[in-house]
Amino acid sequence: MHNPEELFNAASIICDDGIDHETIRSSVTKILKAVGEDPEREGLLNTPNRVAKSYEELLAGYRIDPYKLINGAMFDVDYDEMVIVRDIEFYSLCEHHMLPFIGRAHVAYIPDKKVIGLSKIPRIVDMFARRLQVQERLTSQVACFLDEVLHPHGVAVVIEALHLCSMMRGVKKHDSRMTTSSMLGYFRKNLATRTEFLDNISRSAEPLHF
Ligand SMILES: [Zn+2]
Repeated sequence: MHNPEELFNAASIICDDGIDHETIRSSVTKILKAVGEDPEREGLLNTPNRVAKSYEELLAGYRIDPYKLINGAMFDVDYDEMVIVRDIEFYSLCEHHMLPFIGRAHVAYIPDKKVIGLSKIPRIVDMFARRLQVQERLTSQVACFLDEVLHPHGVAVVIEALHLCSMMRGVKKHDSRMTTSSMLGYFRKNLATRTEFLDNISRSAEPLHF
């Protein structure tokens, strides 16, 4: 099994206490003043508090215990065909603007005697999405974590996302949609394996939209 340090490293966990609500509250009050708003008006009175609470949830991924995440959901099996989990919805924040990017992840792996409960894969995506991210890193972190946990023959992750920082800031809309992928093991080495996965996820896939 894993030693704690390896698993916490693979999950890129920040091992400290919770987020600093007080600093977020006072900073949001300053931002409200800086944009010309009145932090004392009724609608905004509780906003710094709400923002602090929402960051605690939106950025919870740094502090999720990876042992709890995978605990009890690893099984030894004699199965070595591709396992695919498609259309995993996720919500993240871009690290450049702290604005949302949202989309879908498709994850596949080829087991080597070990599988993980299917419901855990969306939770792993969620753990990495609930941080300040760039889509490329989110993609490779999910792939590397599964590789570390399962030591499978291969892992593939494809993520399609819409970036609100481009959509809201008047950049041309077609620039706001991005697809990234990370292929390890068989998926990287073997064209037929990769094609099987990509064919599967493109089948009857609905385009991303709001
Ligand atoms: Zn951005």
